[in-house]
Amino acid sequence: MTFEQLNLIQPILEALKQVEYSTPTPIQAQAIPKILEGNDLIGCAQTGTGKTAAFSIPIIQKLTQNPDTRKHRAVKALIITPTRELAIQIGESFTDYGKFTSLRHAVIFGGVSQVPQVNLLRSGVDILIATPGRLLDLYNQGIVKVPNLDFFVLDEADRMLDMGFIHDIKRILQIIPPKRQTLFFSATMPPEIQKLANTMLYKPLKVEVTPVSSTVDVIKQLVYFVEKTQKKDLLISLLSNETVESALVFARTKHGSDKLVRLLVKDGIKAEAIHGNKSQNARQNALNNFKDRKTKVLIATDIAARGIDVDQLSHVINYELPEVPETYVHRIGRTGRAGNNGVAISLVDPEEVKLLKDIERLIKKDIRVIYDHPFVSIASAIGVSKAIDSSKAAPAKGSGYRGNKSNGDFWRRRKLESKR
Ligand code: AMP
Repeated sequence: MTFEQLNLIQPILEALKQVEYSTPTPIQAQAIPKILEGNDLIGCAQTGTGKTAAFSIPIIQKLTQNPDTRKHRAVKALIITPTRELAIQIGESFTDYGKFTSLRHAVIFGGVSQVPQVNLLRSGVDILIATPGRLLDLYNQGIVKVPNLDFFVLDEADRMLDMGFIHDIKRILQIIPPKRQTLFFSATMPPEIQKLANTMLYKPLKVEVTPVSSTVDVIKQLVYFVEKTQKKDLLISLLSNETVESALVFARTKHGSDKLVRLLVKDGIKAEAIHGNKSQNARQNALNNFKDRKTKVLIATDIAARGIDVDQLSHVINYELPEVPETYVHRIGRTGRAGNNGVAISLVDPEEVKLLKDIERLIKKDIRVIYDHPFVSIASAIGVSKAIDSSKAAPAKGSGYRGNKSNGDFWRRRKLESKR
């Protein structure tokens, strides 16, 4: 499948050539024709699958082909996304793919002065990319007007709900015209998301790629058992390895992230943190430095990392495992983007063994353990062994572990895996 076969117009094909996309990703191959035909769409896909291009390319094409677009400048496509970082990235995508069209877009988000955003809106835009709060704020001030919307896109719907945006979304649905084409994207489809989709879509077609529980196969996943007190030493030794070109390190707390940065910097490793306590500009700077390879390591909390999109990110490191297993899948999906190889390493201390078990149950596979390192924690390994033992009573459905396996089997299997 090529982009030409998707019947895209020349200005878009030219732009795709410039960003060096040779073939559509699965979500693009499935979604673009359906959107071009005018259907509402539910896209079940996480970041990293190419979903931004899957919705922005057909929007650019349809707006360019519509003779009304040229007659008057007004917002004809509204894209709502949960975070500033995602909004900026979507804006960059419209810049890239719409480069050879005359369409104009604006990106608006909170936490910064509204003046430049208002000026841009007043100069006239066709496409508006917004976070929910700032959109409603500017709408209430009479600055944003959306009476003639052709396209409404809700991006990362599940995260919107996680972040408490449900009331804002309901309000936005009241201010946009009912007759429109709606595109709805979410990494997961739990019942409350399906319910939300039902309220806003008309006869939607569904496209689905890499469901959250099947981690992208190109990512190599590894576990290092380590005592909590030795995690920092292990991290420094891992990051000092030259195969680590750029690493996104997940920490649980803002304070912990800052502490890690200080430790790494002291050891001569260029690192910065990105978390909610930092100003928007400091976060953006840290992200840009990381993207431009001025810093090798970016330490992030889960909220701050939402939407981080860095091409060729070689490593994701879980300094601490997340409490919610699905978050692990979101985290490691930051590497292995668009078919690139990536490595996801988890440092697991004895108290985190249960979290590791939950993750392995979700992704339905055992993560390979590396024992051959100077900080290996026997307590963690024993913890896993105990967890296997107790799972005899109630083996998890679909889990890689079987209740009738003895611990001897487990150790043999783990050793074999670590030699592979
Ligand atoms: P997204 O899922 O939209 O966040 O996209 C993930 C990454 O894949 C971004 O860095 C895109 O630039 C890149 N990408 C999207 N589509 C393609 C494609 N067809 N070929 C190569 N890279 C792509």
